[in-house]
Amino acid sequence: MSGNIDRRGFIRSLFGITGALPVAQQMAEAKGQTSFYWCNFKTGQVGFPTGLFVPEERPGSLMKLVAAAALIDEGLTHANETYECTGTYNVGKEAVHCQNAHGKIDIVQAIGRSCNIYFAQATKRLTTRAFLAKAAQLGLDKPCAGRHSGAFPVKPAESSSLHYVLGLAPDFKPNALQLMRLAALVAIAPGAKLPVLHSAENLDLLEQEKPMISPLSAESHRVLSAGMRLSATEGTARKLDVDDQLKIAAKTGTTPHGNKFQSYVIGYFPVDKPAHAFALYAPSGTSQDSAVPKAKEFLFSTTWP
Ligand SMILES: [Zn+2]
Repeated sequence: MSGNIDRRGFIRSLFGITGALPVAQQMAEAKGQTSFYWCNFKTGQVGFPTGLFVPEERPGSLMKLVAAAALIDEGLTHANETYECTGTYNVGKEAVHCQNAHGKIDIVQAIGRSCNIYFAQATKRLTTRAFLAKAAQLGLDKPCAGRHSGAFPVKPAESSSLHYVLGLAPDFKPNALQLMRLAALVAIAPGAKLPVLHSAENLDLLEQEKPMISPLSAESHRVLSAGMRLSATEGTARKLDVDDQLKIAAKTGTTPHGNKFQSYVIGYFPVDKPAHAFALYAPSGTSQDSAVPKAKEFLFSTTWP
């Protein structure tokens, strides 16, 4: 296949978007469907191959990235500290589960394998306030590419940070573009600047949008990058790029939705010289069954510069 994702005509034809539908109709039709976004974080350009609708849902385990950054940068853990995952762990009256027992696990492994029990134990000392402060530094309370922030708790409903760490709190629903920007902020060097993200079609950015600076320390940047790389090579996103062609770093998130699931995968690539970030939201199915295979389709339907 020839072509370059930065050529708008190409991407439109590739994904079958004719541009003929009114925006409101496009958005109505996209609701309840898979949403995929990508950005080039040198130019700030954002692509909307599935349309302009932007979901705001609970982010699930994507928030382990925020928790890990807070844990490292607040000095509450270090990369060599391990916790034991036996598959079930009780926090007060609530039981936290992992599908398989992960055994003795450190923070990089816990990100890569998305270990709920590592994070339930490690974040006992992490306050909701400290978690949300890191989330704000990572842009989860700020507009992105002309879209207002999704719900961000001003007066958090829950005192324990656990449901925020696991991305299950009902008052914290960042939009999918903010989650894509989170991946971009992990990708760039600590202290580096990310340009204002914007769509090529639509330049009506919200006034308050400013370039963002990576808030990570050298160590939290190292831990989050390594965890996301492990996720894409051996962990929960390992089926995204089995031959490692794009050299992706990724994080998955699955949340219950009624008696079903909805899921996310976010990431960036190539790991050694990051240039693009992406986010895929699947309105039904777990990340393994739905978000990861769907993201794989989009990522491999074009050539990336
Ligand atoms: Zn576990």
